[in-house]
Amino acid sequence: MKVQAAVSREKGKIAIETVELAEPKAGEVLVKMVASGICHTDSAVIEQYLPISFPIVAGHEGVGVVEKVGPGVTNLAPGDRVVLTFPSCGVCDHCQDAHPYSCDDNFTMLFGGKYRDGTTRMKTEDGKDVNTMFMQSSFATYAIANQDNAIKVDVDVDELKKLCSLGCGVQTGAGAVLNRMKPRPGSSIAVFGCGAVGLAGIMAAKIAGCSTIIAIHGSKGREEALEFGATHTINGRKEDIVAKVKEITNGKGVNYALESTGQPPMARTMLDCMAKEGLAVTVSVTAGAEVPIALEPQIMNPSVTFAGCVEGHSNPKVFIPELVRLYKEGKLPVDKMNKYYKFEEIEKAYHESHGGVLKPIIVF
Ligand SMILES: [Zn+2]
Ligand SMILES: [Zn+2]
Repeated sequence: MKVQAAVSREKGKIAIETVELAEPKAGEVLVKMVASGICHTDSAVIEQYLPISFPIVAGHEGVGVVEKVGPGVTNLAPGDRVVLTFPSCGVCDHCQDAHPYSCDDNFTMLFGGKYRDGTTRMKTEDGKDVNTMFMQSSFATYAIANQDNAIKVDVDVDELKKLCSLGCGVQTGAGAVLNRMKPRPGSSIAVFGCGAVGLAGIMAAKIAGCSTIIAIHGSKGREEALEFGATHTINGRKEDIVAKVKEITNGKGVNYALESTGQPPMARTMLDCMAKEGLAVTVSVTAGAEVPIALEPQIMNPSVTFAGCVEGHSNPKVFIPELVRLYKEGKLPVDKMNKYYKFEEIEKAYHESHGGVLKPIIVF
C-alpha cells in the first residue's frame, strides 16, 4: 500500500515522500500511526553517529492502532491501541529470562536497518529498499512492527498521542529508577540532566518515595524538575555539583544517582556524589568515552556500584502498561513535556528537538 513517510536520504535531512509499504509478515502487525515522539536516538541515526545506511525512515516512539495482523499473531487484533517500543529476539537467554533489553541481538535489531528476516518493508517510488529503525520506522502514516514490540494499552486514541515517550525516553528514565535502582522509600537520589529521560527519572523517584530528589540541570529544566518532583535543584553550569550535593545530604552524598546528560565527565562527577553503598546508574550514550575512575576512594571502600542501564531495564509487555496506569493516576504526567506538530512540520520539530523542546510529538 502507498503511505507517506519522512525519508532521510542524506545526513541531517528528512523529507516526506510517498513510499510503498509491504503487508505484515508472520508475527507482524500493520499499525495506522496516531503519533510519534522524536528522541535523541533519531538524531543519532539521521546525523549518522549510528550508521544505518540511507535511505531510512527513522522514528522509534510510535503509537497507533492495529489495522491488520500477519499470520501467527495471537496477542493483538485490529482496533487495538499500541505503544511501539524496542524489538527483541524472544529466544536468546536474556529474552527467555524476561530481560529483552539485554537481548543478544539488540544492536542489530535496533540499528541493523532490517526486519528479522533480513529484508525491509518499505520501498521508495524509485524502487530502493528503505531501511528501518527499531523495526518500526514511526515517522510514517503506517508502520510494520512485530507483535513483540507493539504493546497493547488501554487508552483511547486521543490519550494515546500523549504517550509516545513511554516507548523509549520515559521508559529509559523511569525504568532506570523503578526497575534498575528500586530505591528505598525515604532515600536520596541525584538526577543529572533534565531532558525527557532525566525528568522521567525524577517523576519515578517521587513515585518510589525518595524523600530527597536533587535535579542537576543546565540552562533549562529547573522549573520542570521542580514541577515533576525535585526537592532541590543545582545549576550544573554555575554551581559546584559535588559540594552542593554533600551540603543537601548532610555530608553523606546520595544513595542513588541517574546520569542522563550524554557528557562523559558527568559520570565521574556522579561517583563523587555517592553515599556509601550507593548505586550510580548511567543511561548516557557516550560511545568510546573514557572516564577516569579511581577504584579507591570512589568505588571500592565506599562499596559504590556503577551500573549501565539500557531501555530502562524494562520488559515492555509488563512495564509499559504499568507506566500507563501511573499516567492515568496522575503520577506520571509525561504529557506535560510534549509539544505537538503536524506531520508536515516534522523538519521543524526535528530541529526544535535540538533546541530545548523536551518532547516533540508528530501527530498524523
Ligand atoms: Zn533476545
Ligand atoms: Zn529513544
